[in-house]
Amino acid sequence: MESYPSQSVALNVMDEPAPVLVRKRRPRHFLNARLLVLASLMRLAAWASLAGFAWCCVKMAVTKDQLFGYYGLGLVGFFLLVQVVAFAMSRSLSCPLCHCSVLHSKSCRKHQRARNYFHLGHLFSVVLDVLFRRAFSCMYCGTEFRLKK
Ligand SMILES: [Zn+2]
Repeated sequence: MESYPSQSVALNVMDEPAPVLVRKRRPRHFLNARLLVLASLMRLAAWASLAGFAWCCVKMAVTKDQLFGYYGLGLVGFFLLVQVVAFAMSRSLSCPLCHCSVLHSKSCRKHQRARNYFHLGHLFSVVLDVLFRRAFSCMYCGTEFRLKK
């Protein structure tokens, strides 16, 4: 019986795993960066006003002062106003690759590379990244974006 050296060489090559070359790509530039920063600031202000409302409720319950109730109602009104404006602004902020809205968290599956700080939600992580890192990753496709040119 004849031996086939070329086949044995091919089998040896198949046994060894091929080296995986991972090339780190520079994050893409997000075109509408100013609007994204403004919408993120509004989202953060809305969440802060909600926290302020909770603080006013606790303060009103402890001190029995109705003034904190009025402050709390004002904060709820501010929250609703800012949320509506931020929602309208962020509708035009979509990922150029997957066309999903960057500042809307839907119930669909998120990308495994999407950040989720402290398990407070992907939207919270995007807002923090935009405001403090000047870069973010799309929660749906995982693409890295930078805000600077
Ligand atoms: Zn995307």
